Amino acid sequence: MTKTPETESRKLLSRLQAVMAEADAGQERLDRITHLIADSMGSEVCSIYLLRDAETLELCATQGLAAEAVHVTRMRIGEGLVGRVARSARPINTANAPDERGFRYMPETGEERFSSFLGVPIQRLGERLGVLVVQSKDAREFSEDEVYGLEVVAMVLAEMTELGAFVGEGAALSARHTSQFMFKGVCAQEGAAMGHVWLHEPRVVVTRPVAEDPDAERARLVEAVDQLRTDIDQMLTRAPVGDAEQREVMESYRMFARSRGWLRRMEEDIALGLSAEAAVEKEQSSARARMETVPDAYLRDRLHDLDDLSNRLLRRLTGQGKDTGAELPSDPVLVARNIGPAELLDYGRSLKAVVLEGGSVGSHAAIVARALAIPLVINAKRIATEALNGDPVLVDGDQGIVHLRPEDTVASAFRDKLAMQAEAQERYASIRDKPAESKCGTVVQLNMNAGLMADLPSLPTSGAEGVGLFRTELQFLTRARVPRRGELANLYARVMDAAGGKRVVFRTLDIGSDKVLPYMKPQDEPNPALGWRAIRVGLDKPGVMRMQLQALIRAANGRPLSVMFPFIAQLDEFTQARDHLMREMDREAALGHALPETLQVGAMLETPSLAFAPPHFFELADFISIGGNDLKQFFFAADRENERVRRRYDTLNVSFLTFLEQVVHRCAEGDTPLSFCGEDAGRPVEAVCFAAMGLRSLSMRPASIGPVKSLLRRVDLREARAVITEARATGAQSVRDGVMAWLKRQG
Ligand code: PEP
Ligand code: MG
Repeated sequence: MTKTPETESRKLLSRLQAVMAEADAGQERLDRITHLIADSMGSEVCSIYLLRDAETLELCATQGLAAEAVHVTRMRIGEGLVGRVARSARPINTANAPDERGFRYMPETGEERFSSFLGVPIQRLGERLGVLVVQSKDAREFSEDEVYGLEVVAMVLAEMTELGAFVGEGAALSARHTSQFMFKGVCAQEGAAMGHVWLHEPRVVVTRPVAEDPDAERARLVEAVDQLRTDIDQMLTRAPVGDAEQREVMESYRMFARSRGWLRRMEEDIALGLSAEAAVEKEQSSARARMETVPDAYLRDRLHDLDDLSNRLLRRLTGQGKDTGAELPSDPVLVARNIGPAELLDYGRSLKAVVLEGGSVGSHAAIVARALAIPLVINAKRIATEALNGDPVLVDGDQGIVHLRPEDTVASAFRDKLAMQAEAQERYASIRDKPAESKCGTVVQLNMNAGLMADLPSLPTSGAEGVGLFRTELQFLTRARVPRRGELANLYARVMDAAGGKRVVFRTLDIGSDKVLPYMKPQDEPNPALGWRAIRVGLDKPGVMRMQLQALIRAANGRPLSVMFPFIAQLDEFTQARDHLMREMDREAALGHALPETLQVGAMLETPSLAFAPPHFFELADFISIGGNDLKQFFFAADRENERVRRRYDTLNVSFLTFLEQVVHRCAEGDTPLSFCGEDAGRPVEAVCFAAMGLRSLSMRPASIGPVKSLLRRVDLREARAVITEARATGAQSVRDGVMAWLKRQG
């Protein structure tokens, strides 16, 4: 056989494979592998550095450097040439290492004698595992073929690492997927839960990274890619014509699947000795590494598409479907890189909690998780890579912390916390049918927020007096097209039936900004939160809003109806929206449909401007509800979805409370019932302060009703008011400290 880079590479890979089969201990395998690679590349040195922890690399085996340095030499990610390779996930190839930026001399390794250096990352699907290095005395740059060849070897090492081939002595050789991990993410829905991991997309495991027969592998790859292309073409013909976004994704899948470059690179990998699936994964890994560094969101999306496509191909080649045969645990905690709202709804309330690698507070998945009242932690980096199906996991949605495979002490402390919460729930159950009446005799009405039919059973169990906010977006967000009037009317009617005569306030469609409909052309707006959203869309393109209003009138079918328009910023928006509703009433009457027994038309106060509207607005509105989530973001000019700023301003800031007090006054002048339905209403201390400022109706998540009622019943609102007045007088920025101190004095 002639000596080509391909045959050399294949020979090397099959020797590596043999080492895997022969040597038992992880260390012995690594030693023999460094020897083989150095020999095959004709270099004096070959070293393998593996990650000891997230930040530190450890020399785990070497041929050519001082043996004493093994498990002694360590460097941080980014430090020295090896650390730079790990950080950038790109090779460094230099003829003169000591002159290279960032070179760090490690005396214990004796490496000063070596001039040329080639380091390539050992990574699997964007996960850093280590660095593979070859060095030579003569000052030469390694050829492109050599770099590529070493990357292929690194890929095989990555697969072997994943399969646990190097578990053994030495801190960096400890077993993966067995140690405990803590992830610090971001809280997107509060609550605590413990359970067992259920991976939304179980990882494909490549058990055969090396293959002897490149022709057979190439044929397997080509066949799988062909099938994939056919699938994509079929999906494209099935994708609804109006669904621009879905079509765009499918088109980019098609583009990748037909890309010669992608297939060619994988064929080259195969020629060097990788199996078809290892070749797919190698290209997927480098795409993931690029994904992390690309600043452009559009390009990142495209790389994401390539990632999804690679997954499809891997499943096809390995025969590993989503169905791995694993059984859904009885207490599943869903772990995923990301998940769509419809998929999350499919799991429904069976989930104890959800943990995502990506996501945002306002994502559709977050909206669904909130609607289902399932604790949700987002931005838990790497959890989908670390977790395995069935791993025990603790989710602290309040703090945004997730413990994977927790130690006993952590688990038992967590169990105590859950037990305390359960006890508190029992206490709340005992006051469920009592009013939220403060010690001074003020009664505050507590309602619940909802968004799904599935929320309605919480109405009696939480003790809520009604539904203060029914968000109608979910039915629009989770479908591929606009729902039909009949479907909506049916749902709204069932919601009213389930409420059994209690009041339900339906908010008309509040889309735009964070809530983008899958079938709505995305608006390229510089500031979506300040852009074309909610009632602005409803008034400019009234078709959907009118259809929704008809559905509501039909659903009421003679019963009382409350409708609320979101995001009203000035009087004429309210009058116009109200006029639409009145016209629909006339039209429905003309069609012979029963009209609601009573009709209440309200507005959400979500922009400060509305508090200064003319008196006529307050007279015209049958009720007003403060959307504190949006109001706060505009009051403080702090994006509610931006982690950097969203917690920066305290709700109990004196300016904000003073503003609320003004709204209370304006409503009192117009005799307009006022409520507060943002998330803050469900926080007991905030709720007490709102009540002290004069609010007499609050709407919140069902789970918050108990804690809020319990605190309200234990305090004297006149005292709370005095504490706030005093804090104001002393020039405090926030009344929180004063209020907390007063609450402590109450015990
Ligand atoms: C709000 O803004 O406070 C509100 C209740 O509406 P959403 O959170 O749906 O924007
Ligand atoms: Mg809002």
